[in-house]
Amino acid sequence: MAVVIIGAGFGGILAGIKLKAAGIDNFVILEKDDGVGGTWWANTYPGCACDVQSHLYSYSFEPNPDWTHMFGRQPEIRDYLRRCVDRYDLTPHIRLATTVRRAEWQEGESAWRVRTEGGEEYVAPVLLAAIGGLSRPAWPDIPGRDRFAGPSFHSAQWDHSVDLAGKRVAVIGTGASAIQIVPDIADDVDQLYLFQRTPPWVIPRPDRRVSRFEKWLYRKLPVTQKLWRWLLYWRLEGRATAFVVFPRMAAIVQWLGRWNIRRGIKEPALRLKVMPEFPAGCKRVLLSDDYYPTLARDKVHVVNRRIREITATGVVTSDDVETPVDVIIWCTGFKATDPVPEGLFVGRQGLDLTQRWRGGLEAYLGMSVSGFPNLFILNGPNTGLGHNSVVFMLEAQIRYVMDALATMKSGDLPVLEIRRDVESAYNARLQERLAGTVWASGCRSWYLDENGRNTTLWPGYTVEYWWRTRRFDPARYTCPVIGHGAGEQIS
Ligand code: NAP
Repeated sequence: MAVVIIGAGFGGILAGIKLKAAGIDNFVILEKDDGVGGTWWANTYPGCACDVQSHLYSYSFEPNPDWTHMFGRQPEIRDYLRRCVDRYDLTPHIRLATTVRRAEWQEGESAWRVRTEGGEEYVAPVLLAAIGGLSRPAWPDIPGRDRFAGPSFHSAQWDHSVDLAGKRVAVIGTGASAIQIVPDIADDVDQLYLFQRTPPWVIPRPDRRVSRFEKWLYRKLPVTQKLWRWLLYWRLEGRATAFVVFPRMAAIVQWLGRWNIRRGIKEPALRLKVMPEFPAGCKRVLLSDDYYPTLARDKVHVVNRRIREITATGVVTSDDVETPVDVIIWCTGFKATDPVPEGLFVGRQGLDLTQRWRGGLEAYLGMSVSGFPNLFILNGPNTGLGHNSVVFMLEAQIRYVMDALATMKSGDLPVLEIRRDVESAYNARLQERLAGTVWASGCRSWYLDENGRNTTLWPGYTVEYWWRTRRFDPARYTCPVIGHGAGEQIS
């Protein structure tokens, strides 16, 4: 085995496609879930959709002329990835329902030894971690969470056996997941209580069905879809200007957000309740046309008091009032600044990645971490985006990884590890740049870790990332071993 890939989402599938294209066939993709798609397999909540246009949120080399909407729905995106797996014949490489328990660097073998929960073992010189930045659900530390007697689940682990019809439902959180769920379940439920801690900025979503003519055109004249993708890319890329260059441009987004509130809600008290009080962009800007009208419905109640505890029968807020509910849905997000469980990645000299990252996540170009030779992380630290498609970032990362593999092979460099000085200088500069952005303007968000460091987002235009990753530079890496290790080499 030359390469072990962990995760069969957008990143892992892309890695498989590109490895095959490079003639590397001895790789395996280990996936903990029962199907492929990563986040688009796991998140099945009602209303789940992408807030980046699908013609852009897809592989550049695999356009889909048949997207039904501008913003693809979860089943459609999951099916797209499944089709990619079929088209590139990746199924023989994928092991589903295979959770990796530990991946450990073996100094003597110059290889990663990867053990799964089922007891299988894979040894490969190269490890690709495509586990996603938003795959570990975050549960807030609210007393009594386990005391609730009714059904209660996280948005990313939707329990489809629970019928919400006629139920009193509590939704906790008002992030990207919640604002899609609330409008979608409101018809069914008897009463919906939305527990809001911080009202988000929600602007209109320019969604529409893709017409039959457009689909026909994209099929007959693929260049038109390429052009559309290109236009979408530059339109979204322009948003980085507001986030990183002129944070004052957030005023435009705020104007749109306020307009969205006014058109959706008539009652002044409710308008006030949902009015954000931080600069737009500091937290992810959300897109929805039906969120505010749903909040205005009689059966929907926005509760903006702190949650004090959960009882067997409901949610108690800071004013000592208990709201009795039948179901609780936790839309409380993901451990974005703590994406890796302890003991999963163990590098040189037994160094655990969580230990290495104790002071905060960091990597060179989001992919390479010192002490962890031949490990490449996809969607790693500071490669997330607040303004454009992460698939673009993934494609840049894979191109870099493929160049690294080619360098390893041609230069007879079986082990490559990022130099600590290069990694440190890179991250110091990154943090300097992030200091002046809208994300550092004072709100609490999943972009920031507990020390207030932004360890998740790329601080600029994606074009810059593309440029910086276009070529692998071995001079930035050390090669502690010359010659071949025991692990099977990249073929
Ligand atoms: P999120 O944006 O992190 O939102 C979590 C929500 O839970 C926030 O409103 C947060 O309030 C609230 N919360 C956390 N702890 C709480 C507590 N103790 N009491 C009350 N409220 C609490 O999570 P998410 O909605 O799952 O989205 C995460 C990310 O996933 C998104 O930003 C996006 O990148 C991605 N996503 C994308 C889409 C899409 O493409 N449309 C959809 C879903 C998710 P505070 O704001 O006060 O912290």
